[in-house]
Amino acid sequence: MNYKLPQLPYSPDELSPIISKETVGYHYGKHEQTYIDNLNKLIKGTKFEDMPLEEIIKTSTGALFNNASQAWNHIFYFFGLSPQGGGEPTGVLRLAIEDAFDSVENFIQQMKEAGGKLFGSGWVWLVKDTNDKLSIVSTSNADNPMREGYMPIMCIDVWEHAYYLDYQNKRAEYLDKIWDIVNWDIVCRRFLQKFSHTK
Ligand code: MN
Repeated sequence: MNYKLPQLPYSPDELSPIISKETVGYHYGKHEQTYIDNLNKLIKGTKFEDMPLEEIIKTSTGALFNNASQAWNHIFYFFGLSPQGGGEPTGVLRLAIEDAFDSVENFIQQMKEAGGKLFGSGWVWLVKDTNDKLSIVSTSNADNPMREGYMPIMCIDVWEHAYYLDYQNKRAEYLDKIWDIVNWDIVCRRFLQKFSHTK
């Protein structure tokens, strides 16, 4: 398998002013491309070469794990955003969020708090368990909750490279604004998928 950078379903300038064209260019075009290039180099000629990416993430360590997981995480992040995003979740996803967090407002508040508290680089995730119960999980560096038996539903990248060009040190502002471009249709579609990524 030779992984390629998937083309985003929107232009790099379309997430502006929440995320600038410059950030999308560096973050997806450069950082993500590097993770994918490294992943391809590291799997070549090994038992990981023909393994699904999720399996590599669950069974590898060190540099291979870091690059495989970051490759996956960034595709998940960028495909979960849309210039037409924002608003509020509807339907079964909304019901599941209300069941787990009492309200959409509380859920968003808890995601922001988790992102604010995360020390250093990492990710904040909305995940579901095998009973479709939702919860929030924070992971450090490249880590992904599928390694703990959860299925990711949405994520926010809180590495500085995700927001520094647009918000400098103001991570809280980035965490406030990103909701205007969350693609709830995709998040709902992920929630409705049969559980996978079991430990
Ligand atoms: Mn990133």
